[in-house]
Amino acid sequence: MIREAVIVGAGLGSRLGDITKDRPKGFLELDGKYIVEMSVRKLIEHGIERIVIGTGYCSEWYEELAEKYPAIVPVHNENYAETGSMGTLEVCAPHVQGDILLLESDLVYDSIALFALLNDPHRNVVLGSGTTQSGDEVYISVDDRQEVLQISKQLETVGSSYAELVGISKLSHETLITMCSFARSHHQDMPKMEYETALVGAQQAGQHLFVRKIEYLAWREIDDASHLSIAKEKILPMIKESESLRGVQREVLLNPGPATTTDSVKYAQVCTDICPREEEFGQMMRWICDELTDFVGSRDAYETVLFAGSGTLADEVMVSSCVPQDGRLLVINNGSYGQRLAKIASVYKLDFEVFESSTYEALDMKALHKRLIEGKFTHLAAVYHETTTGLMNPIPEIGKMCHELGIVTIIDTVSAFSAISIDMERDCIDFMASTSNKCIQGMAGACFVFCNRRELEKLKNEPMRNYYMNLYDQYQYFSRTLQTRFTPPVQVLNALRQAIIETKQETIEKRYERYTQCWKVLVAAVEELGLKMLVEKNNQSHLITAILEPTDTSYSFDEFHDRARDLGFTIYPGKLGNINTFRIANIGDIQPHEMERFVVFMKEYFKPLLKG
Ligand SMILES: *Cc1c(COP(=O)(O)O)cnc(C)c1O
Repeated sequence: MIREAVIVGAGLGSRLGDITKDRPKGFLELDGKYIVEMSVRKLIEHGIERIVIGTGYCSEWYEELAEKYPAIVPVHNENYAETGSMGTLEVCAPHVQGDILLLESDLVYDSIALFALLNDPHRNVVLGSGTTQSGDEVYISVDDRQEVLQISKQLETVGSSYAELVGISKLSHETLITMCSFARSHHQDMPKMEYETALVGAQQAGQHLFVRKIEYLAWREIDDASHLSIAKEKILPMIKESESLRGVQREVLLNPGPATTTDSVKYAQVCTDICPREEEFGQMMRWICDELTDFVGSRDAYETVLFAGSGTLADEVMVSSCVPQDGRLLVINNGSYGQRLAKIASVYKLDFEVFESSTYEALDMKALHKRLIEGKFTHLAAVYHETTTGLMNPIPEIGKMCHELGIVTIIDTVSAFSAISIDMERDCIDFMASTSNKCIQGMAGACFVFCNRRELEKLKNEPMRNYYMNLYDQYQYFSRTLQTRFTPPVQVLNALRQAIIETKQETIEKRYERYTQCWKVLVAAVEELGLKMLVEKNNQSHLITAILEPTDTSYSFDEFHDRARDLGFTIYPGKLGNINTFRIANIGDIQPHEMERFVVFMKEYFKPLLKG
């Protein structure tokens, strides 16, 4: 699996004259977007976690871009004016750990190029295309096994050209090292070496280098003003059309999970088959667990344990595994999910009690405090965000109260994690459950329990109440072997990895802002229509809104639902005892402009009904 890329972007771009007077070539604009930024986005969408960019001329542009994309690591080549692209690659090489994609900064290309290279069976592959007649061709010749013979701008040097070099390659770490030592031995005689020369050098030193040719690839390297105008007028429209053909039909899910996902998360499931017992897959699961932990606490003190299953499975894992034989559990019930935690406790015949509270009004903290002490409870279970109503429980406050009383906290954060900023230590949460298909914006099928490692270790000698869902067993087996005890959902985990990469780029704080913007658009429309919300605005999560159904009108949820569906929106009913609501969730890959489009429809639907 390729996780890192290097972009060589140090060059002066002198042939572009005035256009690059104040900026590196990567910052040429097409359609109001920087070409290198388009490339960065494509790399991230294809599962690249780290993008090392070798900078030189006007490097501050890259420093600024890195602030927008946490995946970018800018590395400066001090000597950029005296070296070629290979000099910049030499400076970047120590900053990558594994196999890489290597790209030039001045490329526009159809992202199918990345898919083809990432899925090519060879470890060292340069991408080639058919004839471009760009006037700046780099030719590649091959032997009869598609191995590279020569790469050169001189047709005489290559003999007969098999393909033109695009400027995107996949390289093993070993080949990168071999290229660097080839370059070092030629610092004197070839100070301005281009990386193509070192590629051929590495090939001659025994590295096998293949060509992957895509005859009609839409791409262009931009070296002068004429390339720029061709890219603008011809190439970019071709790329857009081709990429849009691979777009998946957009359905905006306004139900409370599974949430809408990006196409890149969907496509992350389309990958090579792998046996999950391979070390490589184990490393990927280790990465997923560590990165999930990073969102909520330090790896030293906290640990994430993965399971196959939906969010309820993670809830059942916690409730059945985290309360010892002599423990006493208090479950807060102020909605369907709190009730579910209590149900699980009853199925396992735990020593527990339920603390009932209103489903739409704030919890009585004083009464809770009193009950915790009087009942001599050792553990507390609660839901962070009651998805039934959109009611938020003040978990940081509850957690603090529990820890002061020496009570272990078990929290269902299924619909809160990755939207609401959580710090397990600050918020006094010992165990918490979530799933791959809500605010982390992945596919359904994986769930996880975040654990305070000290509390987790205390479960070591507890008798198991179940087998598949035992938290400690799963934890210790994975720590020892880098394998899960039972088959993990391989493709769902690949999608989860992609969802984590994208969450790191957006950040949880900004995601919450985006969700909140969508919520504000919704609430403004609800208020304009004069509809009532179940929960007071101040106690709402901004993630889901329960709206009371109007009575005495010809309103029908089914009709409302079906008409929304026709427009690409899915909405969800919600019944709370005898209160009828419908619920609009705004978690997932949803943009405010989509919510704007939804509320236009909502107003259209309700206005005539509410008039009468
Ligand atoms: C979605 C959700 C769950 C899990 O539901 P599944 O149907 O198992 O995915 C649990 N708790 C809360 C608060 C939820 O929102």
